[in-house]
Amino acid sequence: MTNIRINKIYSWVKPIAIFAATWVVAGPALALDSLVSEAGVKPMPVAFAPMQPVFQTAPALPKSRPDPALAYDIQPVDIAMPHSKPALKDVLPTSTATLAEMIKAQTGLEISAEADYKLRAGEGVGSILRRAGYSAADTAAAIEAAQTKASLRRLQIGMKFTIAEHGFRFSVKPGIDIYIVRNPEFGWLAINALRPVETYVAFIQGVIDDSIYRAAKQAGVNEAAFHEYVRVMGFSVDFQREVRRGDQFEMMYDTQRDSLSGDIIGIKLQYAGLSLSGDQLGFYRFDGAENAIGWYDENGNSAARTLIRTPISGARLSSNFGSRKHPVSGYNAMHKGVDFAAPRGTPIIAAGAGVVRQAGWKGSFGRYIRIKHNSTYDTAYAHLSRIAPHIAAGSRVKQGEIIGYVGSTGRSTGPHLHYEILVNNRQVNPMTVRLPTGKQIDPVHLDDFKKQVQMVEAEVLARGTQRFATALPTPSTP
Ligand SMILES: [Zn+2]
Repeated sequence: MTNIRINKIYSWVKPIAIFAATWVVAGPALALDSLVSEAGVKPMPVAFAPMQPVFQTAPALPKSRPDPALAYDIQPVDIAMPHSKPALKDVLPTSTATLAEMIKAQTGLEISAEADYKLRAGEGVGSILRRAGYSAADTAAAIEAAQTKASLRRLQIGMKFTIAEHGFRFSVKPGIDIYIVRNPEFGWLAINALRPVETYVAFIQGVIDDSIYRAAKQAGVNEAAFHEYVRVMGFSVDFQREVRRGDQFEMMYDTQRDSLSGDIIGIKLQYAGLSLSGDQLGFYRFDGAENAIGWYDENGNSAARTLIRTPISGARLSSNFGSRKHPVSGYNAMHKGVDFAAPRGTPIIAAGAGVVRQAGWKGSFGRYIRIKHNSTYDTAYAHLSRIAPHIAAGSRVKQGEIIGYVGSTGRSTGPHLHYEILVNNRQVNPMTVRLPTGKQIDPVHLDDFKKQVQMVEAEVLARGTQRFATALPTPSTP
């Protein structure tokens, strides 16, 4: 028995009520029909293949669904529903390796041969069935059944059909196969079947020698998982400049494999950790609620930062923050920013969202832009060859938006970007300053998120591994 909150909107309550009634009165076969096929199709008897258990080494991560009742701002009333909505895997039969197995399960008939056909240009389901030897009458009846499960008008050239004497199989949606089977008693019928999926969990740790990419590759990390890892960590870490020999990485990801074909159909990074000369970073995926999807440290601080450390891509750090002999004046002076050498015209992006304070000529800085991000943080960009046309004092910018282009204007010896981060109007070292996180997870989801963190921890512990990355204390957003 599930107690769910629903409201008084009839248009919404009615279908649920009808569905619930159908479910109770007619049982699974009829309810399934109302779930997956179009209205007006007469219910057909469907034999259910035995469910295959899904192999999973991980504890199921919690995936709470947003309560649809919350979308309406009318006082909710509590009513008891006879049954909760069944998951697709509980109502659909499981797809089989061969077409013959499904035909046997549905009709009891043994077939000896099945063959794969590919849809040719200009061909429809009718012509492919005729090509496989179906009579005109069988083709028409089979198509009529198939149309209850899928629109057959726009099928992709090269789409695979497995065809045998008493039925055929195709797929228009990943994870679901459509079987059209001739039942000796009832004629042609259509069945949706779920392709079985196995989920594996990988937890991988490694020591970085020269590049994290090479270390991850050596450790056998999946490419897609690695790219997601770099994207998540990239907010906090500059992989080109900050990672040193002996630093360690760790990550955990799910691999979903189609059990019938063996193909990998999905990679999902769940946890990303990095130990950086003693500093430790760890981020967890959260996708339990539509409005809070993202990456957070174990306290629920977003992995995304309000500012990007390197607001230019493909550049080389040519001069660091600190005291140095100025290349033009020759005096020893404090260098209050960092210089990135890059070809003239390389786009420069806004390090964070904010409002442009200044955009124009500023003495030895040449063409210069300064952006106010909030009451504490500003960033400045100097020696630009050009300022983007829409950028002027007072204009609003988004993080990552192109604001100008590398040049050598003002007092400069060659094309480069001079970049400053200012905290309360004082320049700080952009490479080492601890940047504030963008936001915190909505407190409503904090408990769910913490559960997810615990599951990752449990998974790591079960492997006898010591997880090393924990969240850094980060300054809160000013
Ligand atoms: Zn500089």
